[in-house]
Amino acid sequence: MSQFSGKLVIVAGPSGTGKTTIVRHLLVVFPRLAFSISACSRPARKNEIDGEDYYFLSKEQFREKIDKGEFLEWEEVYPGSYYGTLKTEVERLWKAGRHVIFDIDVKGALNLKKYFPKESITIFIEPPSVKALEQRLRDRNTETPEILEQRVNKAKEELMYVDKFEKVVQNIELQKALLDTETIVRNFLGDN
Ligand code: 5GP
Repeated sequence: MSQFSGKLVIVAGPSGTGKTTIVRHLLVVFPRLAFSISACSRPARKNEIDGEDYYFLSKEQFREKIDKGEFLEWEEVYPGSYYGTLKTEVERLWKAGRHVIFDIDVKGALNLKKYFPKESITIFIEPPSVKALEQRLRDRNTETPEILEQRVNKAKEELMYVDKFEKVVQNIELQKALLDTETIVRNFLGDN
């Protein structure tokens, strides 16, 4: 895809598992890692910034990019909401000499792995239980009841893919999950 290359750390797992917290922590610990900003077609939440959290696109803009083959992978993660990794995003970060970390859904993660089998590692963040996950989503309070239900159903589906991942981290106690993921990433990146 590019004359430049780096490594890819692919973090996936259901919404509400603490995945985003873990990814943020890794970005602080490993300065050579950079976050892959995905494109998505859902509206921005109150505290989200275009070009930082996501590249927010309309559904039409998103479909146009699908048609032009601009994505490495994309998924309709929730009905009517598209998310995807742009080729230009990974190229941009590799060109800058960075390794790339992804926070994406399980299918997207496994697709990226197929695309970059040698350069990547897949890490699944597992919640203690579906019940605990439901509670975390409720506490986060960013979703309407309907969307919350959608996310819980999606989480149940995502949990069925855990065996396909190279590494699994259980987030029962956050500090331990942070350390466990840190060790996995340190071993994978080596001295980089
Ligand atoms: P949220 O709407 O909570 O930001 O994200 C919803 C889900 O979409 C999360 O599981 C997130 O990891 C996933 N996601 C974010 N970006 C991408 C992407 O580029 N590709 C895929 N396949 N999933 C993504």
